[in-house]
Amino acid sequence: MSNICSKIVHPHCDTCIQLKKCSVLADGLSSCDIIMCSLKCGSRFHSCKSEEHSLLCPNEKVPCINAENGCPAIMFRYKRARHLEVCPASVVVCTMEWSRPWMCTHDFKLNPCRTFNSSHKHQLDIALALQDRRMWNKWKEIPAIQSQLGNIPLMKPICHFLCARPFRRDEYCWHYKNVHSDIHGGLNGWLEHRCPLAGEGCMYSLRRIHPCATEASVIHSDILESFGVTLQKECNNSNIKEIPKGESILQPNGGIITHPQVEFDHLPFEVLRYICRFIDSFSLCNLSLTSRRIRDVCHSLVKERGIMVQKWKKSAIDGEVHWTVSSQHWLFSTAFSPVEKWRFEEEGHMSNHLKNCHHYERNVHSKPFKVMGFN
Ligand SMILES: [Zn+2]
Ligand SMILES: [Zn+2]
Ligand SMILES: [Zn+2]
Ligand SMILES: [Zn+2]
Ligand SMILES: [Zn+2]
Ligand SMILES: [Zn+2]
Repeated sequence: MSNICSKIVHPHCDTCIQLKKCSVLADGLSSCDIIMCSLKCGSRFHSCKSEEHSLLCPNEKVPCINAENGCPAIMFRYKRARHLEVCPASVVVCTMEWSRPWMCTHDFKLNPCRTFNSSHKHQLDIALALQDRRMWNKWKEIPAIQSQLGNIPLMKPICHFLCARPFRRDEYCWHYKNVHSDIHGGLNGWLEHRCPLAGEGCMYSLRRIHPCATEASVIHSDILESFGVTLQKECNNSNIKEIPKGESILQPNGGIITHPQVEFDHLPFEVLRYICRFIDSFSLCNLSLTSRRIRDVCHSLVKERGIMVQKWKKSAIDGEVHWTVSSQHWLFSTAFSPVEKWRFEEEGHMSNHLKNCHHYERNVHSKPFKVMGFN
């Protein structure tokens, strides 16, 4: 008798494995008929072993192996392994670290680039520095970190920043490559080409490298604290103009943009859902912030496109420490459409900037002046 199944398996059937050679006549006491799997997986077995087979049959519909971790998917057993790549509950948390010298208000005063502010946030190196600063400001409110900082002598320690963002398994490798290798790795002059007089305080920079797709560029969202890709070439938000209702605008290239008759978020729910299916996770995060209705549309897609993140809590039961899931959250990761290739294209030329750079002024003296400070 099989111990997994509740049904009684006949003595012969229990040991009969080579069905091709089986010639036993089913008597209903020690053996039974040989049947084909009703789910058409091609297997043959003694009928009393149907239940046992259903535990192995590749055509049986089963829940995802991460069902306990919150994945709601039901699929054919043979599809389970493939599903793991896109399973919303198979989440990878990025462990990438980067460092920069400890930044305090004092440092920002001394830093020649101290004038940077949100108007420079389309410059990606500054966007990341601002993100790190916000992160730092949050951390230093934590009492444990405050007490550690009290022990730090005057030398400047290095701060380590941890990405720690959750991604679906299939999104992770592109996140790592595009964000940490291509973007972070390119910030020291390769992606953003800074004016050679940056040290003097010039904030000018040129974007040198863009995703290969036409009109695509890298942006940083300070709401999501993440890099992303947009299909709109202008990365400076001040260039976006709202078109007044019923009016048309003539573009510099001769094209005309007319205020649409139908507002985007007034489109039928199913149409919006359909459009949103083509949008990457990073954009869905941003889009969901635009209106209540759009948020509902995005919310309806979260189990299809998002990830399931669990919060764990530590509790002591009978003196033993246990970890239990305290809550489960569906959310969209910050993954953007993979950038498989980059193109090199400078927006203008640095030499054009240098002709007008305010920090590139020759110091011409017409009157006597002190060189060494002696009279
Ligand atoms: Zn047999
Ligand atoms: Zn049997
Ligand atoms: Zn089967
Ligand atoms: Zn799953
Ligand atoms: Zn990361
Ligand atoms: Zn300059």
